[in-house]
Amino acid sequence: MKSLLLHACCAPCLSAVSDALYNGFDGKLAVLFYNPNIDTRAEYDRRLREVERYLAARYGKNIEILNGGYEQDRFEREVAPFAATGERGERCTLCYAMRLSRTFEEAAARGMTHAATTLTVSPHKDAARINKMGLALERHHAVNYLSGTWEYRRSLDLCREYAIYRQDYCGCRESAAERDQRKKRRGAS
Ligand code: SF4
Repeated sequence: MKSLLLHACCAPCLSAVSDALYNGFDGKLAVLFYNPNIDTRAEYDRRLREVERYLAARYGKNIEILNGGYEQDRFEREVAPFAATGERGERCTLCYAMRLSRTFEEAAARGMTHAATTLTVSPHKDAARINKMGLALERHHAVNYLSGTWEYRRSLDLCREYAIYRQDYCGCRESAAERDQRKKRRGAS
């Protein structure tokens, strides 16, 4: 029987993907929240709570949520040398890889047949690069990778419907600083 482990980066992106996939897996769907990139514990907890709240409101107790743990030290150690490469740069490649690898490891350990990630929903992410990684991990772990095209607009609708918190930066310290710089530039112009 088919089963899916879906990596969730945040509730807004999760909303569109769970909506698209839920019926295809007959309730055999679990969500993994593994995001060591998030800059503070408070923000990590906030995003996790939103994932839990959204899933409970929409699916009751039908979707299990796995908390991958907050491993920000690991993220800083592995990504710090590439911190200045900007969004979509090498820093993001490592960040995607860290989260996708863990998803495949968990899926394989649990005997699940499929893995997917919500990372490709956002237009700010490099979906082609993420999907290429997913296909490489599929071969390595013998877990099928689902690389669907998810509807960003659908996530906006669901965010409105469920009053989901939409963060204004991707997650890491650098992305928060880049957000601040963008705001400053807008303020100055
Ligand atoms: S910008 Fe986003 S994807 Fe890139 S490293 Fe930071 S948290 Fe990860």
